Amino acid sequence: MSTLLEVDGVSVSFDGFRAINNLSIQIGEPELRAVIGPNGAGKTTFMDIITGKTKPDEGKVIWGERNISLLGMSESQIAMAGIGRKFQKPTVFEAQTVRENLAMALRNPRGPFSVLFYKKSRNGAARIEEIAEEVGLTDSLTRPAGELSHGQKQWLEIGMLLAQDPRLLLVDEPAAGMTSQEREHTTDLLKRAAQTRAVVVVEHDMEFVRRLDCKVTVLHEGSVLAEGSLDHVTADQTVIDVYLGR
Ligand code: ADP
Repeated sequence: MSTLLEVDGVSVSFDGFRAINNLSIQIGEPELRAVIGPNGAGKTTFMDIITGKTKPDEGKVIWGERNISLLGMSESQIAMAGIGRKFQKPTVFEAQTVRENLAMALRNPRGPFSVLFYKKSRNGAARIEEIAEEVGLTDSLTRPAGELSHGQKQWLEIGMLLAQDPRLLLVDEPAAGMTSQEREHTTDLLKRAAQTRAVVVVEHDMEFVRRLDCKVTVLHEGSVLAEGSLDHVTADQTVIDVYLGR
């Protein structure tokens, strides 16, 4: 496993308040990583830094060989470099079928305007089938996305991101609002996706993180408090204290 992304000594302040404080995290390729931490720990800001939404005041974000925090890259340029982000709420085109949603994602490589430059890919249909299978929506390809369950919409959106072939996929609380069966499916899906790319899951739900069975990074006050297996970090007294609010 080689390092794909390195957040190195990054700090970010909002009106003098240090939301991210000398944060260093390395993500490998391929890798599945869970990032946990109490409210206000800096998880969202961490994702914002990687996707270029928030610029670091100090430190570096190294992607491959490049310091993307210094290049002045826009969010869409960073997305085009291979970083996909799934927000908590699913955003799919409800009136379009699952197939049409996936087709749009395939022909819309990471940018709202590139749809204007759509070139029909010869492999499009086959790729759509492949992604539908990967996310477990093969039987729903002809259904309008609006008819899908909450869980299925989340999988469709993950499929739409996979269509853009990211090297790193950031996923924000994918299990929120899901039934236990849906959670199980989501775990399998993320594990599978992480076999060939980096997948970083920001999650509150410890039971879900346990199922992911991957390395965990615990954030607190904008820094890494602990890192390792879930058993390792949850046995750490500083982590216990933070979660119990001591
Ligand atoms: P988490 O996602 O772990 O709950 P966040 O990254 O959202 O944490 O927030 C980290 C800290 O930074 C919090 O104290 C939050 O209030 C603060 N913060 C985040 N974004 C802003 C902002 N745009 N302006 C001011 N404070 C912010």
